[in-house]
Amino acid sequence: MTTLAQRLAAVRRRISDAERLHGRPAGSVRLLAVSKTRSADELRQILALGQTAFGENYLQEAREKQDALAGADIEWHFIGPLQSNKTNPVATYFDWVHSVDRLKLTRRLNAQRAEQLPQLNVCLQVNISGEGSKSGLAPEQVPELADAIHGLSRLRLRGLMCIPAPQEDEAARRAPFRALRELQDRLIADGHDLDTLSMGMSADLEAAIAEGATLVRVGTDIFGARPRRPD
Ligand SMILES: *Cc1c(COP(=O)(O)O)cnc(C)c1O
Repeated sequence: MTTLAQRLAAVRRRISDAERLHGRPAGSVRLLAVSKTRSADELRQILALGQTAFGENYLQEAREKQDALAGADIEWHFIGPLQSNKTNPVATYFDWVHSVDRLKLTRRLNAQRAEQLPQLNVCLQVNISGEGSKSGLAPEQVPELADAIHGLSRLRLRGLMCIPAPQEDEAARRAPFRALRELQDRLIADGHDLDTLSMGMSADLEAAIAEGATLVRVGTDIFGARPRRPD
């Protein structure tokens, strides 16, 4: 039987192999453990193995785990679809949000992020291949929203995120990741101070690292296949 520890080690090895293969510095790609549908106990197990950044998609489920793990040294990332009436818990209980795709969300998160907390780290979700994930900004809308975030003192824009449609072959997998990196490069050339490209999941993390990912979001290959979520 494969244990959580073995699966986590295998994912870490895939990341370091891809860094080496593509000439990326060792340790330049962070691993975000995507823990939606997994129990607080499973999180505790991989926390004990040194994995401290967790990504959650559903607020109520995430809040229950945050309470169960209160006091643990965890960096919480919100990566799920975000409705504007649900921004308050994200602004209050998370360190990062990767799924920001409209101005209204940024205004609310900024107003709701408490003064005594550090700035909320934000990635803009981009619908880079124009299909697959329906959430996300169109690439041409990104510069305007990036500029707007500069005026919001409680938010810190860190970079871009995408979830491209699954592809069979490696070249097709890499194309949308390259497009996101080129968009990020243009923002940097325009003066934005960005350090995060949140791209790559279990099935395509190598392609994302080849194209410059700095953070890969991995669920299935760490925790095993997810149970279907009862809606
Ligand atoms: C579920 C999810 C992941 C992880 O996907 P796996 O294929 O299980 O690795 C990554 N990013 C987002 C936004 C997700 O919702």
